[in-house]
Amino acid sequence: MPKQEKGQNEDSITQNDLSESLEEEVRAFLGDEEKLHLFDDLTKVNPVTTTTVLKCLQARYRVNLFYTNAGCSLVALNPFQPVSCLYSPELMREYHVALRPQDLKPHIFAVAEQTYRNVQSQIDPVNQSIIVSGESGAGKTWTSRCLMKFYASVAAPVISGKGNETVERIEKRVLDSNPVMEAFGNACTLRNNNSSRFGKYIQLQLDRFHHLSSASIQTFLLEKTRVAYQAPNERNFHIFYQITKGATAEERLEWNLPEGAHYRWLPNSERNLDEDCFEVTRDAMFHLGIDHSTQNNIFKVLSGLLHLGNVQFSNPVDESQPCELEDKTKGFVMTAADLLKIPVEELLESLRIRTITAGKQQVFKKPCSRAECDTRRDCLAKVIYAKLFEWLVLVINESIYAAPSVWTSFIGLLDVYGFEAFPENNLEQLCINYANEKLQQHFVAHYLKSQQEEYAAEGLQWSFINYRDNQNCLDLIEGNPLSIFSLLNEECRLNRSSNTDLFQTRIEKALSNNQCLSRNKFSKKPNFIISHYAGKVCYQLAAMVEKNKDPIPLELVHVLQNSKDPLLQKLFPVTERNQNNIKTQNRAAVVTVVSKFKSSLEHLMQILNSTTAHYIRCIKPNAECKAMTFRREEVLSQLQACGIVEAITISAAGFPVRIPFQSFTERYDLLRKSCGSNKNRACDKSNCRTAEKKGETPVVDDEIAPRSVVLEILQNVMGQTAAEQ
Ligand code: ADP
Ligand code: MG
Repeated sequence: MPKQEKGQNEDSITQNDLSESLEEEVRAFLGDEEKLHLFDDLTKVNPVTTTTVLKCLQARYRVNLFYTNAGCSLVALNPFQPVSCLYSPELMREYHVALRPQDLKPHIFAVAEQTYRNVQSQIDPVNQSIIVSGESGAGKTWTSRCLMKFYASVAAPVISGKGNETVERIEKRVLDSNPVMEAFGNACTLRNNNSSRFGKYIQLQLDRFHHLSSASIQTFLLEKTRVAYQAPNERNFHIFYQITKGATAEERLEWNLPEGAHYRWLPNSERNLDEDCFEVTRDAMFHLGIDHSTQNNIFKVLSGLLHLGNVQFSNPVDESQPCELEDKTKGFVMTAADLLKIPVEELLESLRIRTITAGKQQVFKKPCSRAECDTRRDCLAKVIYAKLFEWLVLVINESIYAAPSVWTSFIGLLDVYGFEAFPENNLEQLCINYANEKLQQHFVAHYLKSQQEEYAAEGLQWSFINYRDNQNCLDLIEGNPLSIFSLLNEECRLNRSSNTDLFQTRIEKALSNNQCLSRNKFSKKPNFIISHYAGKVCYQLAAMVEKNKDPIPLELVHVLQNSKDPLLQKLFPVTERNQNNIKTQNRAAVVTVVSKFKSSLEHLMQILNSTTAHYIRCIKPNAECKAMTFRREEVLSQLQACGIVEAITISAAGFPVRIPFQSFTERYDLLRKSCGSNKNRACDKSNCRTAEKKGETPVVDDEIAPRSVVLEILQNVMGQTAAEQ
């Protein structure tokens, strides 16, 4: 039997030969599109091109196979219809008890179980994260919810005798955080009836018995603008519809919400959604420790905001006077003030009059223009809502908290907005796309790089293909000392917000060296284009600096601090009420939106970098959210946006198959025959080669065979077969 040495390239088996040998059954399907759905790993499709991958996904979608592996990621196609038994407790159990869950059909439960086993087997790093990504409506939140249910079921703590019946079990409290966060943080948009308007990272913490002991939630960038502005055909946050539709007669009286009343900030309320169920939210809040009286307080404040939204100003006859209130809205301002427990004159003054201070002396008061009054009214609602949301997260965290000494490991689930590119993009999209660049870099670092390094370490000959490194793009957005973020912050610091043309020039001058930056020269509006890994996005400069500053007029803070409402007093604490404090705050450096976002994202990245990562890429098969409709172009752009196309190429260009010795020997009977059988012999990977040489059974255990070993054995076997023929 001629033994070929590694490196004898002319006659030795190539990488492609190896893939084909290992995937005999796959080879049988080549060219047979009817069987494309049988590929459960996109990296096994041969040849791997975007066309074959798309055809495979489509074929699987057609036969209700919504999950497909793609190397280390799982691609999840949204079925947009209930699929019976796909998330049943029985199926959870099946994956949980399986000898090798990854050998079952691809499923989020396979990822979840593998992740859980990694914790149990103390792999390094022991803490895990599952990064769920995809565009709006792709199924991220649904997936995260199912993952949470899976862990609540398989990792539930064992009940130890009696006691504590008054407190809901931890897994129930963790699950109850979902309806509350969704009621306050989700809304119906054009792209998803239940669109999350914030990013979320939840850590499920496990004790030394690997039982769920506690959890913690971190949120990112709530879209608070939605409180006071809803795009055409979109809605406000679900909770507003829940209170107006679900309040009892008594509550309607107390909160001043007569049936059929019209609120400007409550568009499209005639649309009834499943998400409008007030009872579910209330129950979940109660289980999380928010008692009925606090709930009542929250809903009263929210009702106050709805009334505030109906307040409208008109220009005064005498310009030196404050704006007038439109007649029909006078009642609303009274009710709003009443519900927010703020004296109506104070509320009106804070909305209509600006106090200009110079140095330590208060100089004079100036009436605001009508547009300024509108901005202040909206700002008041936004600041209350954002603080309320923050406070709710805090309360939820307290309810699911345990001291770090109680838990020993965690599984983190990340559900963040995917890459966004609209006809008009601004600071919100810049932040979202920046987060996606960061996550893409994480993906690149942990998967693509590690895979290449692994090949190199195993001594495999493999042509390194260039993957796109997005460091350049990240430098452009967040780098030091000069980047879009630093320039934006500089504009805020110098209080230069009006001249966007000049700002555009400044950006171009400072960052012209970066190839990821360009500009839409045909647009009259000042803009800049960033070449993201997922495509080019044009950002408008108008209002960007102002959005970054996100100013809250001090008069508004003051009026909120003076409120007699217990909840508002909690949200705007009394310690800051002091006038001197307010002045200090005025002079203090502004903590901008991008600075805050950058630091919370950096914190998240540190956590993710310290964990073993798993990726679930959710894909929306069509923009209309229709069942059984698969649009290839739309799917393709999403595969590109999440880096899957690149990952597939790299996986497939190398050695995509990792196979345990056990499966290896079972699969290749030929090898077993040629080697004889000695099942009792326990071998390690180095013995495998020796064993094979001596004609004994190679290693039979669960260890994954390094590809170099597999390659060598196959070379021998194929050589032997050729000799026998
Ligand atoms: P995202 O969080 O990515 O914006 P969601 O998770 O809210 O998207 O999903 C949008 C909608 O798609 C859900 O409200 C649900 O109707 C549907 N959906 C998502 N995943 C599934 C699934 N696995 N099975 C059935 N329907 C789903
Ligand atoms: Mg969501």
